[in-house]
Amino acid sequence: MFADVILPLPLSDLYTYAVPAEMRNKIARGSRVIVPFGNKRYYTAIIYKIEDTISKELKDIDIKEIHSLLNSQPLVNEQQLNLWEWISFYYLSPLGDVFNAAVPSSMKSENLKSRFTPRTETVIKINPDMNPNIIREIIGKAQKQQSLYSQIENILIERKSEYISRKEVSELECHSTSALKSLIVKGVLQSVTIETSRLNTDLKPTRNLFPLNEVQQRAYKEIKNCLEFKQTCLLHGVTSSGKTEIYMHLIQDALSMGKQTLYLVPEIALTTQLTQRLQAVFGSKIGIYHSRINDNERAEIWSKMMSEDPFEIILGVRSSIFLPFNKLGLVIIDEEHEISFKQQDPSPRYHARDTAIMLAHLCNAKTILGSATPSLESFYNTKTGKYGLVTLQERYRNIMMPEIQIVNTFELRKRKKMKSVLAPLLIDQMNQSLENGEQVILFRNRRGFASLVECEQCAWTPKCKRCDVSLTYHKKRDRLICHYCNATYTLPAKCPSCNSENLKKLGQGTEQLEEEVESLFPDYFVGRMDLDTTRGKDAYEKIIDDFQSKRVQILIGTQMLSKGLDFENVGVVGVISADSLLNFPDFRSHERGFQLMMQAAGRAGRKNKQGKVIIQSADPLQPVYDYILNYDYEGFFNSQMAERKMFNYPPFSRLISIIIKDKIEHKVEAAAGYLAELLRITFGEMIQGPGKPIVSYIQSYHFREILIKLDNNFSLKKTREAIKSAESKFHSKREFKYITIQYDVDRV
Ligand code: ADP
Ligand code: ZN
Ligand code: ZN
Repeated sequence: MFADVILPLPLSDLYTYAVPAEMRNKIARGSRVIVPFGNKRYYTAIIYKIEDTISKELKDIDIKEIHSLLNSQPLVNEQQLNLWEWISFYYLSPLGDVFNAAVPSSMKSENLKSRFTPRTETVIKINPDMNPNIIREIIGKAQKQQSLYSQIENILIERKSEYISRKEVSELECHSTSALKSLIVKGVLQSVTIETSRLNTDLKPTRNLFPLNEVQQRAYKEIKNCLEFKQTCLLHGVTSSGKTEIYMHLIQDALSMGKQTLYLVPEIALTTQLTQRLQAVFGSKIGIYHSRINDNERAEIWSKMMSEDPFEIILGVRSSIFLPFNKLGLVIIDEEHEISFKQQDPSPRYHARDTAIMLAHLCNAKTILGSATPSLESFYNTKTGKYGLVTLQERYRNIMMPEIQIVNTFELRKRKKMKSVLAPLLIDQMNQSLENGEQVILFRNRRGFASLVECEQCAWTPKCKRCDVSLTYHKKRDRLICHYCNATYTLPAKCPSCNSENLKKLGQGTEQLEEEVESLFPDYFVGRMDLDTTRGKDAYEKIIDDFQSKRVQILIGTQMLSKGLDFENVGVVGVISADSLLNFPDFRSHERGFQLMMQAAGRAGRKNKQGKVIIQSADPLQPVYDYILNYDYEGFFNSQMAERKMFNYPPFSRLISIIIKDKIEHKVEAAAGYLAELLRITFGEMIQGPGKPIVSYIQSYHFREILIKLDNNFSLKKTREAIKSAESKFHSKREFKYITIQYDVDRV
């Protein structure tokens, strides 16, 4: 008997091993095993296929044996394996990479050593071999010991439990360290270390679902109706219309049918508020799964999902699509338009929204996509009838959408009216709001203090040595930092090129904005949420909590802050340098800018009051601002689709980006040229490039990009075959053998 296995390595091939006799009845597709591979190394692998014979080519090769079997039950079920295969096929990534992304690393042992560390706890038990009469005799007249012993005994009887935690004992009324010690020395009590779970499984719900109002009720019924006929339904509902409440009713329905729900959000920051909201109703039926959860806990969640008593709801980010669901009925993808659903590096570069839809398909489950600003792709899919569409046009309690105003900062600057980063109108509005006890949110989509340092004399700017990007100045750390490779440098006192001491700091980031706002509003507390302030484990929680509980009145942040957070007291939202959101050289920049500004606006004036939004732009005549001012999603959609159609961009084509990288520039030039030539044989005019990506030198590597704009009716299978065959032809050339090729399918 032989088995083909998937190794956790970037390998496209499966490897064949012999199955030892004693494993034959226990092993199955999806089983987790340990196999030897390479030079005296051992890896955790997943059984892909079991067969009685091996192919001819392998006959002469010395086939190694599987070393050991880790679980009797397969770690990966059939649906998951099918999903892995689909990801590997669709996103052109080795199965080994998918395995790596899917399974927590503590479930992959390293060279025969398990990486999982169970959580342990010290507990106290009563010596089971000691007769109660003897115990009384031993304790004798020692008062403290007597009362401690009886209290422990009573608790254990009451709980029908064998032990009580050491910590709990120390909190007992009659606890005394010396008494406990004596009881242990006398052998009456025993102190033992046991393994415990990291998962909190006894949270009780604290409330029922809120009843839906009439508008929500109608949307809810439409969704149910739609899902009778379609697998996927898009809920297009303005911010604060109560989409989340509707999801909760749908989760309840899934629960009552004994089905599991996967609730995907684009960002960890969002899980904080949602966890509280969902736990209030569903208690510990929910498991939370994201990258801030440590790897051991992830392994425990995985194991619980395989148990008889799995979580019924999983709330998580991208990677939670890989959990072993066994009765998935509903997938909710909130803020479906967010590009953070797309994995960037490393491979597999999968889109969690699209992969989750595939997962739902494989499990015969239904999918709800939700957004106030749907991606053009998803909205287009409702037009073609692939997805259903349900619309919610009013906010809960019919509160008016915030009033949006645009201020022309170019004009103001010309007239010398901009004395700070904030326009006078925004400052006025902020003052009014704050005086009324309301809060303010300010967006600036750039972190750090100054995004560019420039010599006033000769225009020299500090750049990263390993990347072709200019460095950002971070004031608190007083360092120049490369946002591509995180390298840090000291800010020179003088220009190294002309010795001038006038080094200007240009391009304000969130850090500088914070400083200005603090000096403009000295009576209020200012918070900041960006990549730099949210590195710690509970950093998000703290910032969100401070704002929610009004300890902080002004919150500054990057786009991280625009997504789906629900605050109830925000009078004004300001968007600083809105143009920077639009002027990015990418066909999606207007879609992204529109979404970001509409989402940002959505944070204003929730609960019971209309809010205000002020957008600062130096170029306010761009048509996109008209759509924003009028909340005209459809108009925006139509205008963008006309452009996409004209230039044959998605959804009218599929983009496959192929990146070639190497440390030597002329080599990467030649390699990219050759690969493009090979690909043109099949794809002809659909190939663009090779060209330089926006940043073409990162961490000492030169990059070139080839883009395939694939016709929608071109076969996916043929595409994959042609790409793979071009790749192997490419790598068979001696000079290109070690050049890395990366694929990014449906690049965002
Ligand atoms: P969305 O997800 O569309 O942004 P939410 O579900 O977060 O909207 O709703 C906005 C606010 O209104 C939340 O604070 C929510 O609790 C409240 N809300 C919405 N619908 C109801 C309802 N039916 N009953 C009570 N509160 C509701
Ligand atoms: Zn200079
Ligand atoms: Zn760098």
